[in-house]
Amino acid sequence: MKIVLASSNAGKIKELNEMLAELDMQIVPQQELGIEDVEETGLCFVENAILKARNAALMSGMPAIADDSGLEVDLLNGAPGIYSARFAGPEATNASNNKKLLEVLGDAPLEQRSARYQCVIVYMRHATDPTPIICQGSWEGHIALEAKGNGGFGYDPLFYVEALNCHAAEIDKQEKNRISHRGKAIRELLTRLADRLTDRLAHNLDDSAAANTRPT
Ligand code: IMP
Repeated sequence: MKIVLASSNAGKIKELNEMLAELDMQIVPQQELGIEDVEETGLCFVENAILKARNAALMSGMPAIADDSGLEVDLLNGAPGIYSARFAGPEATNASNNKKLLEVLGDAPLEQRSARYQCVIVYMRHATDPTPIICQGSWEGHIALEAKGNGGFGYDPLFYVEALNCHAAEIDKQEKNRISHRGKAIRELLTRLADRLTDRLAHNLDDSAAANTRPT
């Protein structure tokens, strides 16, 4: 079964394709179908992930997967949250976002700088799916007083992981996938898709059939 992914991030596409292959599912990036990104007007990760998945399902007529993720800092009442990618403004880069985060946290001590990454992944059988599968993963850490490490992306150089006594940007990719918010959400999705597949196969149904017979 083919599923459209509402993302053009090559890393995410590869990772999901590898994991979904065991369920005989294949990811098609929305870009390949000429589908453009939808505006993320939601007020939480769940809303934004649903907006993206719904748009991809509507435009493609296929089941769709979308994710939304970001960083929540307790001292900032959960900011930057859904605005993580553009914390330092519309032209923000990873470097300017990290710089702004250090500025706004000032000299608050490490123990007060608790934070977590959040990831929500949504699977919709079709654009009007009333029961999307919604999976969530989080990863606890603290925002360090200075950056360390060259791996990862985004806020990883500042994200201190107490259990490993290092910054997320110092962790190798496989280890990060094992413990990260995104890894947890993807594994939950795989389990729930496998359960659904078993259930639907027992009734001789598949989700592409659901996508093609959706009400107009
Ligand atoms: P997106 O959901 O992939 O668009 O991510 C939104 C933003 O959240 C990214 O641009 C990063 O700033 C931040 N973010 C999400 N996940 C991570 C992560 O694993 N490491 C570092 N930053 C992340």
